[in-house]
Amino acid sequence: MSSLIQPVRGMNDVLVEETPVWQLVERMAADLLSAYGYQEMRVPVVENTQLFKRAIGEFTDVVEKEMYTFTDAGGESLTLRPEATAGMVRAAISNGLLRGARLKVWCIGPMFRHEKPQKGRYRQFHQVDVEAIGFAGPDVDIELIALTARLWQKLGIERVTLQINSLGTADSRRDYRALLQDYFRAQFDVLDADSRRRLEGNPLRILDSKNPDLQALIAGAPLLTEHLDVESAAHFAALRRGLDALGIPYAVNPRLVRGLDYYSRTVFEWTTDALGSQDAVCSGGRYDGLISQLGGDATPAIGFAMGVERIVELVRQAGSTPAPPLPDVYVIAQGDAGVQAALVAAERLRHELPDRVVHVNLGGGNFKAQFRRADKSGASYALILGDDEIARGVAGWKSLRDDDAQRELPLADLARQVETALAARAERVN
Ligand code: ATP
Ligand code: MG
Repeated sequence: MSSLIQPVRGMNDVLVEETPVWQLVERMAADLLSAYGYQEMRVPVVENTQLFKRAIGEFTDVVEKEMYTFTDAGGESLTLRPEATAGMVRAAISNGLLRGARLKVWCIGPMFRHEKPQKGRYRQFHQVDVEAIGFAGPDVDIELIALTARLWQKLGIERVTLQINSLGTADSRRDYRALLQDYFRAQFDVLDADSRRRLEGNPLRILDSKNPDLQALIAGAPLLTEHLDVESAAHFAALRRGLDALGIPYAVNPRLVRGLDYYSRTVFEWTTDALGSQDAVCSGGRYDGLISQLGGDATPAIGFAMGVERIVELVRQAGSTPAPPLPDVYVIAQGDAGVQAALVAAERLRHELPDRVVHVNLGGGNFKAQFRRADKSGASYALILGDDEIARGVAGWKSLRDDDAQRELPLADLARQVETALAARAERVN
């Protein structure tokens, strides 16, 4: 007895009923990014483990607990990407794309994190990832956020709100970090194991803890926004003025530090109240130090990632799910000659009427069964090819949506006559 092979926990199949929403989200994102001057770049799903450790930071949930790391047959430690920025930046460096150049690039694809699977949180999930490399901002920060706001508008997503914060520069964070360490050290007994470990390694991470028992302590911690260096404060003020000028509402959240280590200055996050506790739909920020940290020339940059599963769910809730296109014509055939004539007629229609959707009955069946399938397909018309029709050089033409009598179309002039009938019907229906 062979037993069933189970799917991997936290990794989902996207079934045919769901793909139209996915395609809508993907298409809208791609079109919008292109309109803002971003180009698609494709990078591997697997990278050297060291890339993520260096880019994301050792004291993060992602690196400490969530990475799918394995040793390949050649003995190399590789990791399924948990996020895309590291790989995008690595690609820009490896391909010599930087050197003072400015890049506006994006990618889409699966990410992998070994988290506890629940609604909205999976082990394989998808992100649209956007990076603007070589721009110091704040103009690009403002435009990137405007782009995300426009995407929500286009997708009909309303229940999202924007939070922003500034993390200052790595230098200004050093003083703040010491302050924070003093604060948390004084409360060492209250800290959980993760936070104790992070206290020395990276105390800012504690602010990002999701442990409910720590929230009161975190709420009392000193604020980074009050310890910003002068230039970062000016950058942040300009960001706020820009968002105001564009009429994009936001809240400043001084606790927003983001889960990954590489951010500096601007960070932002879009959250929703429509998805329960998995409320983050899009987040990002500036990472001016990352590229030099990975061995490239020092280059300012900003980027963000959005979670496709969560956006798909919001679009579904908003009811903006597109219906798949229904066939215009369903070709029905009887007999060997009929089956062949049906395939020939369908290919001719597809060639001459490329915007029309033509389905052919496959797998035989008597006329009654084929008409049933034609009706179920949602097609407007059935085109019928039996021995008798073929012998006379015609095809039967029957409306599946109203009581019009069946008539015949000459095969020699099929495409033109089909188009005329479809256009006349569209006129009647609209
Ligand atoms: P969260 O707070 O939900 O764990 P995060 O801060 O870890 O999110 P990022 O690393 O910033 O998330 O990733 C960007 C986006 O990717 C998130 O806003 C979210 O929409 C999505 N995302 C992150 N992790 C998952 C996951 N495990 N399953 C589904 N979507 C996810
Ligand atoms: Mg997370």
